[in-house]
Amino acid sequence: MPLHEGSDAKDGRQHLSVNPFYGEADPVAGMATAPPRHTLPDGPTAPRAAYQLVHDELMLDGNSRLNLATFVTTWMEPHADVLMAECRDKNMIDKDEYPRTADLEQRCVAMLADLWHAPDPTAAVGCSTTGSSEACMLAGMALKRRWSRANADRYPASARPNLVMGANVQVCWEKFCTFWEVEARQVPMRGDRFHLDGESAAALCDENTIGVVAVLGSTFDGSYEPVAEICAALDDLQERTGLDIPVHVDAASGGMIAPFLDPGLVWDFRLPRVASVNTSGHKYGLVYPGVGWALWRDRQALPEELVFHVDYLGGDMPTFALNFSRPGAQVVAQYYTFLRLGREGYRAVQQTTRDVARSLADRIGALGDFRLLTRGDELPVFAFTTADGVRNFDVFDVSRRMRERGWLIPAYTFPPDRDDLSVLRIVCRNGFSHDLSDLFVADLERLLPELRAQGGPLGGRAGRDTAFHH
Ligand SMILES: *Cc1c(COP(=O)(O)O)cnc(C)c1O
Repeated sequence: MPLHEGSDAKDGRQHLSVNPFYGEADPVAGMATAPPRHTLPDGPTAPRAAYQLVHDELMLDGNSRLNLATFVTTWMEPHADVLMAECRDKNMIDKDEYPRTADLEQRCVAMLADLWHAPDPTAAVGCSTTGSSEACMLAGMALKRRWSRANADRYPASARPNLVMGANVQVCWEKFCTFWEVEARQVPMRGDRFHLDGESAAALCDENTIGVVAVLGSTFDGSYEPVAEICAALDDLQERTGLDIPVHVDAASGGMIAPFLDPGLVWDFRLPRVASVNTSGHKYGLVYPGVGWALWRDRQALPEELVFHVDYLGGDMPTFALNFSRPGAQVVAQYYTFLRLGREGYRAVQQTTRDVARSLADRIGALGDFRLLTRGDELPVFAFTTADGVRNFDVFDVSRRMRERGWLIPAYTFPPDRDDLSVLRIVCRNGFSHDLSDLFVADLERLLPELRAQGGPLGGRAGRDTAFHH
């Protein structure tokens, strides 16, 4: 169905049908109400009836807590709900009108700069966004602007900028390259290497490379890319050729996992080549959608002409964003969660999530029908495929059949050059407990005898990739 096109009936209007009980006092009035679905109704509908109509339709959405496809937070505690309700009417851009909300945003940036080891956290610059996608657009724009400034003699006339990344990047990087006319130079997957490595990244760089994107960690299998190795390969490239290529770390998920669970892993601003980092506050930052964060090492990394200024307490406050208006609730909820958990709280929550992921991966591996690609020991996310010799069913069958039990687990095909490989992926999140994972395994075990008894996979792979793997 094309974007935004409704499926109207022949008379051009498809009507909603209202249960008589949904009317106010008079059930007959309720029965007579039939608002159209795809045109603005002529008149109003009573609030109770309108609420029920919308509510009833939404019952057919999946249960977000059983959605093992999404990285996005699906549970927060009641106090966060209250705070978010209190702030949903505040516009994030009105810094002067809501100075406390603006200040909480700045404190979150400072906390992240410290968490990610900015050399001088007070000199780091950053902002909240609607999510990592917007943060990546901003970071990509900064890279492009730095490069175009340094190549003012050749751009835009003769030089075409490029960005180097693995084929496993999240779709936002393809969007960035399309929207901002940058060539996406992707390193294909090879054999059992499912993400970028230093040598292949450096090999694709030239004088038109605006930067290299390293992902912590990959949405395809939950693995961390070797950021330090990628930086070292680029150090080496600089020594050999003089090319000084900055790195952006897309830490949409890992930015809120690694600092707590892998403090020894050096991936952040401790590496001088890392110019900017993003994370999704609404993933392992543990806030409902949509909030993300983009940080730059220092002012030099973020060209000043990209920054706009809005009034703030009689002075001015720099802002960098694609959007203008945006709700303040998520930023407030992020600050609340930082305050509420602290480092120890985050460590405890993320460790529990990783424990659930690892034990679930082990149990799925032990079933014998599957081969694990990753084990949930980096991001609490793992991918698995059918074991060698399994011929009677495929990953798409498993995804579809588990859906009958309410579990949403995506099955999808890997990018080039491993598009021969199809996998299932499970994203463990806060709120997906050991108890729920027991129930998941029990459902899978109950299903397997039927799958093993199938004559073969039901239907071809083409067109059956589930769209929700990112
Ligand atoms: C989720 C994700 C994104 C996009 O983030 P949103 O917050 O959903 O906009 C970008 N990169 C990676 C690595 C991701 O996991």
